[in-house]
Amino acid sequence: MKLIALDDGHGMQTAGKRTPFIPEIGRFIHENEFNRAVKKLLDAELKRCGFKTVLTAPGDADHSLASRVKVANDAKADLFISIHYNALDGKFDGPGKDPEGFSAHIDPSGGQSQKFAEIAIKHLANGTIQKNRGVVKQQLYVTANTKMPAVLFELGFMDNNREALLMIAPAFQKECAVEIAKAVCEFYRVPYVPESKPTIVKPAVKPPEPEKAPEPVVEDKPKAGDIKGFNVLYVQEDGKLRYDKQYKSMEDAEKRQRFLLSKYGEVHVKLIRH
Ligand SMILES: [Zn+2]
Repeated sequence: MKLIALDDGHGMQTAGKRTPFIPEIGRFIHENEFNRAVKKLLDAELKRCGFKTVLTAPGDADHSLASRVKVANDAKADLFISIHYNALDGKFDGPGKDPEGFSAHIDPSGGQSQKFAEIAIKHLANGTIQKNRGVVKQQLYVTANTKMPAVLFELGFMDNNREALLMIAPAFQKECAVEIAKAVCEFYRVPYVPESKPTIVKPAVKPPEPEKAPEPVVEDKPKAGDIKGFNVLYVQEDGKLRYDKQYKSMEDAEKRQRFLLSKYGEVHVKLIRH
């Protein structure tokens, strides 16, 4: 398992490392507000992708460059990543007049640092519309003194009014972290594991009910004219018509009829209708 050293550039109170006063938000932004936010997000990204990390400057206090390098070297980290925000002249010059964009700074010796930096620049360029300033070879303390491949990212300009505001934009911080994490994954040929989105439980789509023939309507109430039963009528000796009891079936009625016929001369079976 590869060990990645994560360095967030400066302490919160490192002198001079802040934007000019930003009227829109009524304050300065310290460089470390951005650096440490991206470092934290990148830490989570890399752990999710199966890497171990070591933080060169935990907490908000200032750590010397020498101590940052020592932490990475002592831990025998495989890769050193430092997160920064650039500055040129320390003042806002107006829209379109300030420098802008991101860059990856490496030791002039190149090597694996250059390979990783090029992969990272490719991912950053895919992920952000910010200007791509590419890979810059430069003598810097941390990239020169770490024993592993090392890249120092400058992800925008503090003295560009528009980019200064991006420093505190969570979406931009996240984007920088995700693209650098993708680069680490590609560098080590492991799949990038995206953050799992909260599962949106969609209501199961119910297949439409098959068309059914309507259920036969069971009528409780018999319709007028339906046969209710059968009555057997007979004429008694006195000549009066008598009703025998009601029978449900014709068969029963006829049976009764035959019986009565043996006693009475005239027996009728009559349908009873509703
Ligand atoms: Zn910096």
